[in-house]
Amino acid sequence: MPVIYRGAVTGDGYYQALGFGPWDNALLGPIGYLSRIAALANVVLPPITDVAPGPAILAHLSNNQWLVACPDCMRDYQLAWDGGPKVYLCAYDWNAAVGGRWRRYAFPPARAAIEAAVEGVPQAQRNWLPGWSPARTQLEAGNAAPSPGEEYRHALRERALGRP
Ligand SMILES: [Zn+2]
Repeated sequence: MPVIYRGAVTGDGYYQALGFGPWDNALLGPIGYLSRIAALANVVLPPITDVAPGPAILAHLSNNQWLVACPDCMRDYQLAWDGGPKVYLCAYDWNAAVGGRWRRYAFPPARAAIEAAVEGVPQAQRNWLPGWSPARTQLEAGNAAPSPGEEYRHALRERALGRP
């Protein structure tokens, strides 16, 4: 029988369990996720106050993890955090499309309803993409995680155009 988790995973719980503590240390500390990749890539990280204007990236739920995906390259996924400034920097293209500045991200307003809709199914089958209705979320619960790909890009484009 698969393990049944309560609630969805965010960066807060994940990195806390690994002993990394809060967002700034887990991502930007001496052995933080982003600071290490940036050092290997010879990239200087922008200050976290340097945030691009524009709509926030919506986190999506994949395998019961709230993730933020790069809307430009779709190659980088990072855990979304409740704590911290809710800004995202792609570890592949370093947000080149917005001048290398951080981008804001947000959880979907219906987060609680989404988590409720997938509760009770195995962790690997708890998924939600922007644009999915509650009915579709329940329909998809129990299926394998979809690749965000084009559907996710489409939803982010619609959001950028101000369409819900
Ligand atoms: Zn990217």
